[in-house]
Amino acid sequence: MKILGIETSCDDTGIALIDGKKVLYNKIFKQHHEFGVIPENAARDHFDAIKKNIKEIEKPDLIAYTNGPGLIGSLFVGASFAKALAYSFGIPSIAINHLEAHVMLPYWLYEFEMPFVCLLISGGHTMLVFVRRLGDYEVISRTMDDAVGEMLDKVARNMGLAYPGGIEIEKLAKAADFQEKFVFPVPVKNSDDFSFSGLKTAAIRQICADDTTEKKANFCFYFQEHVGNLLAEKLARVAKKYEVKNWVISGGVAANKTIRRKIEEVGVANVFYPEIEICTDNGLMIAALASLRFPKFGATSLNIRCDAGWKM
Ligand code: AMP
Ligand code: MG
Repeated sequence: MKILGIETSCDDTGIALIDGKKVLYNKIFKQHHEFGVIPENAARDHFDAIKKNIKEIEKPDLIAYTNGPGLIGSLFVGASFAKALAYSFGIPSIAINHLEAHVMLPYWLYEFEMPFVCLLISGGHTMLVFVRRLGDYEVISRTMDDAVGEMLDKVARNMGLAYPGGIEIEKLAKAADFQEKFVFPVPVKNSDDFSFSGLKTAAIRQICADDTTEKKANFCFYFQEHVGNLLAEKLARVAKKYEVKNWVISGGVAANKTIRRKIEEVGVANVFYPEIEICTDNGLMIAALASLRFPKFGATSLNIRCDAGWKM
């Protein structure tokens, strides 16, 4: 069965086509706005990206689209396109939860044993989820304020770095000469929950766009190490309570090599990551989750009911 996956929750447009486990097409069209995500522009750009690129794809048997959570304008563009296409082809469509897709992508890729625990670290979310089986999830903890990716983006912007900031911080950290050291606070120590807004403020106070590249590089190095330690410590804490064999780390921030190394140092059994290119939002995860869910969880009607706050 050929499944087309359309992802438009935020600013990246993801389009993918799978046939069973074969990936026939998988592209991410990144939007480039100087000031980060501007919701109305994001929605318009999704429309253009889908219109331009959908022609490359052969006719699917099912169309999956992101129904939430996300920016409502962006979601509506993807959902409307998906529904209209499905209607014209006379094929079913299926609404997919974006968070569940991030969590389940490594399972679809590597087919390991359940249950597992997923650390989802992205631009909009930071959470630990216990996955008993498909559709049976327990959110163990989440961020009390900012998402980790959102914090990285804001700290990077404050330094005058490009968007998305997480990747820029990772690049600049490589140039550190260790002539200057930076220290940061450790938020919510005795809890499984995360918090990044206080850390963001503490970070922003130590650096600005006018600082030298050497200073920024050292800052990025220590900041990235610190964020990696915080995430690894939470994982170690939760690993004591959930004795699972398998762990999943997903979402855009999971692309970070320092964070991956810190998590590996915790020594939990098997850790599965999506490949770097499919850590950030992508259409493959939408198609992949649809292939796990369909037909048991059924197709959706032609009504469009995007849910900007859809929980897992
Ligand atoms: P997502 O919301 O899953 O699309 O992920 C986007 C977020 O991932 C943004 O906040 C990015 O700054 C962050 N991100 C992407 N690549 C990296 C990286 N290599 N290191 C850290 N953060 C990253
Ligand atoms: Mg995402």
